[in-house]
Amino acid sequence: MTPVSIDLALQRCIEPDCGARFGLNEQLYVCPHCGGLLEIENETNALPDAEALRRLWQSRLASSDERDRSGVWRYRELLPFSEDAPIVSLAEGNTPLYDAPRAARYCGLNALQLKHQGCNPTGSFKDTGMTTAVTQARILGARTVVCASTGNTAASLAAYAARAGLKCAILVPRGQVSHAKLAQSLDYGGVVLEIDGNFDDAMRIIRELAEDESIYLVNSINPFRIEGQKTVAAELLQQCAWQVPDHVVVPGGNLGNSAAFGKGFKELFELGIVDRLPRLQVIQAEGAAPFAQLFARREQDSTGDSSPTLIPVKHPQTLATAIKIGAPVSWKKALRAVTQTGGRVSSVSEQEIADAKAIIGRDGIGCEPASATTVAGIKRMVNDGVIDRAEKVVAVLTGHLLKDADYIIKYHQDSLYTHDRASNRSKEERRIAGTFSNPPVRVKATRAAIPEATLPSRFPRHATPNPSSSALCIGAYWSAFEIFQVLWQGA
Ligand SMILES: [Zn+2]
Repeated sequence: MTPVSIDLALQRCIEPDCGARFGLNEQLYVCPHCGGLLEIENETNALPDAEALRRLWQSRLASSDERDRSGVWRYRELLPFSEDAPIVSLAEGNTPLYDAPRAARYCGLNALQLKHQGCNPTGSFKDTGMTTAVTQARILGARTVVCASTGNTAASLAAYAARAGLKCAILVPRGQVSHAKLAQSLDYGGVVLEIDGNFDDAMRIIRELAEDESIYLVNSINPFRIEGQKTVAAELLQQCAWQVPDHVVVPGGNLGNSAAFGKGFKELFELGIVDRLPRLQVIQAEGAAPFAQLFARREQDSTGDSSPTLIPVKHPQTLATAIKIGAPVSWKKALRAVTQTGGRVSSVSEQEIADAKAIIGRDGIGCEPASATTVAGIKRMVNDGVIDRAEKVVAVLTGHLLKDADYIIKYHQDSLYTHDRASNRSKEERRIAGTFSNPPVRVKATRAAIPEATLPSRFPRHATPNPSSSALCIGAYWSAFEIFQVLWQGA
């Protein structure tokens, strides 16, 4: 197998008017000429043909080589690293593609599949990019790796830095990161710096820090992270037997993931591995939707302005903290991906996110709130006729359920509130209804108490049922009846 020649791969500025090129081992994050984002350009002329690549990647599924066990390095022909690169891996990737029949019905689709990136080693999609970025840090001889994070990047970086024996510093907005994510970073030995500000403030400070060459910045601005993340497109399409879905739907936060999927699909198409591109649909939370607003402005603009500018949201608001980002750094790459694939960018409400999350759970699949924007967005797009019910749709879940357990407990106990106090809305107006709530039932510690407590206690919650909750009420009654039967037979 001929690897990609790293002599021929390079870093290139994405700005059309600049396009400056730099060597792979120049420690850059943005173009020094124009400040544009950089991306890796791989020379693929030396690669075998599409059929040989598909066979090679298939054969590696049965291999015990450490690189083949990784869902990222298995596709190393697509990566800008030499065969002897000092890989830092936790066997990332290899995430399942689930059928989700209940979520499909909820969305009005015949079928829906969920690619669960939350099944990565640290519970989020970030691992697929961190393995390549921390490997590059090793190649560059960096001593310290740093990032700004809403939590998932921090947890992932801390783990990979620990594997590589590198020092790791993380800037997080104080009080805005879930306990689970914070706990991960601490456990993996990362130095966690809680700053008085939001994610965008943390990002600004990190960029200043990265001027020191012994420090390597691994936010999604880092083009080597995008390289690892783009392999998820290959893994997904391989799981689909290289039959391209009509739509791939991703949550939109810092937009590195959208950019990576776009790059991955495009490269696979150019290599002839697949014969078309899926439409890339990006969904943001309404309170943190600068990219969706940009897309809407662009659609309304009859002059066809091809160089729109993203207007940051100064105080982003959403309970889906993983995508609570007002100034996404990768928006230009993401916009290119969306337009090249004929996709769209839209946003959904906090209520829609919470309900979609509970529905995903009913398929036995647990995700964090940000991931549920996808199913909420698909439901809207089916309603609006953007997606046909018979089309093949894959939603990408980006984080694991246990990343934010507090949110879930509150939803199921009808005590989930949005934080947007500045809007002058009353507490009741900020309440997110537990439409599909499944609260725990309190019972006395006696055998006799169980059916008695289970049956009637659910009724007061729906004492004055609205039309939608009456069905739930009957469902709850029936569930309780079934529990009673099982207990009775077991006695
Ligand atoms: Zn440039």
